[in-house]
Amino acid sequence: MQQASDNSMLGIYVSVPFCRAKCSFCNFASGVGTPEAMESYVERLCAEIDGAGANAVSLGAELPRRVDTVYFGGGTPSLLAPQQLRRIFAALRRNFDVADGAEITLEAAPGQIGDAILAESQRLGVSRVSLGVQSFIDRESASVGRLHTERECIQEIVRLRAEGLIEVGADLIAGLPYQTAESWEHSLEVATGVGLTHLSVYMLEIDEDSRLGQEVIAGGKRFHAHGVPAEEISAELYEQACARLPRAGFTQYEISNFAGAGHRSRHNVKYWQRTPYLGFGLDAHSMLRTTTGAVRLANPDELGQYAGAQSAREISRGGVTEAFEETIFLGLRMDEGVDFQGLAAAFPNELTKPCAEAVRDLVAEDLMTDEDGRWRLTLRGRLVSNEVFGRLLEGVAV
Ligand code: SF4
Repeated sequence: MQQASDNSMLGIYVSVPFCRAKCSFCNFASGVGTPEAMESYVERLCAEIDGAGANAVSLGAELPRRVDTVYFGGGTPSLLAPQQLRRIFAALRRNFDVADGAEITLEAAPGQIGDAILAESQRLGVSRVSLGVQSFIDRESASVGRLHTERECIQEIVRLRAEGLIEVGADLIAGLPYQTAESWEHSLEVATGVGLTHLSVYMLEIDEDSRLGQEVIAGGKRFHAHGVPAEEISAELYEQACARLPRAGFTQYEISNFAGAGHRSRHNVKYWQRTPYLGFGLDAHSMLRTTTGAVRLANPDELGQYAGAQSAREISRGGVTEAFEETIFLGLRMDEGVDFQGLAAAFPNELTKPCAEAVRDLVAEDLMTDEDGRWRLTLRGRLVSNEVFGRLLEGVAV
C-alpha cells in the first residue's frame, strides 16, 4: 500500500562524514577525521541548522517546521561523541518541531557503537539503526577494508535488539571481491535470520570515484580488484536477492530496499515520493517546495569549502517538466510504480502522451509492466533502470 506523501512534514538528513577507515569501494564524501576536525564540523553543522530558516527565505522556498523523519548518515555517525550528538539534536529542536514518534535513524558500523553513544542516541529519540554490514563473509568484508567479522556483526545486531531498538537494518553489497552465488546466499541467509527489520541491497558501483572502482577500470590487482565478479554475475546476485528476500518476509518496496511488514524507511520514502527534505552537512542534498515548483540544493562536497561556510549550490529550480520527470523516475523506483491516471490528472498531455507511447515499447521488451494503467519496472527493467528512465523521458525534453 502506498504511503500518502505529506508536504507539510519535513524530513531532515544530517551528514556526518567521518569513518574509522575508508572502505576501498566507497565513493561518498567521507574520510578518517581527527577529533578536532569532528568537533569543528559539529560546530559548523549546528550553525548551518540555525541558519536554515533565513536560507529558505532567501531562496523563496517553503520550509515546513514540523519534522517527522531525521536521518544521520555519512560516514559513520555512531563515532560522534555523546555531547556532539546532543548539540546537533539541540540545534534541530530549537529550529524545528520534531514530532513525537518521528523516525530517527543513526547509521553505524558494526562494532563502532560505544555504550555511551548508544545510550545517548536512545535518550535523544533515535528509533532506528542502520548498519553498514555489506557482507557476512569475512574474506569479502576484509577485502574492501571493512573492520568487522561476521561474528561481530551478528553480536552487534543482537545487542541492538536487546537494548530495545525495534528497527535495525543493514546494507549489503552484491558484487564484492570474491563473492559467489554460494557466499551471497550465506549473507542473505544470515541477514534474514538474525532479527533485522530492513535490508538495503546495492550493486557494487564501478566508477572513478572509489579506489576499487579505479583499479577495476584500469584492469589492475590492487584492492582485490581482480576478485570483483563480472557485471553479469553481480546482476545475477542482485536477482538472487530479489527472489530470496521476499520469501523470507522482506518485501521489496524499492529497487534497492526490502523491509519486513511495517518496517519501511519512512525517511527514504520521502525522497521517492517527492516530499520536502532538508540536508545539513557535507554533500547533503535538499528539496524544498516553492510557489512555482521545487528547488533542489547540494552542499559542497569538499570539507574545506563546507567548513568555510560556502553555501549550498542550487542544482535545479524546477517547474512542471522537472516535476513530471521526477515523478516518473522516482515513482518507478518504488514497487507501487506510477499510476497513469494520477499522472494524467496532474500533468499536461504533451508530457504524458510521449511517455505512455514509450511505455508500450518497454512493456513489449519486458522492461516494464502496465497493469490497468499502473506502470512498474520488471526485474530486468530494474537492472537497467537508468536506460529505461532515459527512454521514458526522451520525448519529454523541451
Ligand atoms: S564506512 Fe561507509 S561511508 Fe565510511 S568509508 Fe566505509 S562505506 Fe564509506
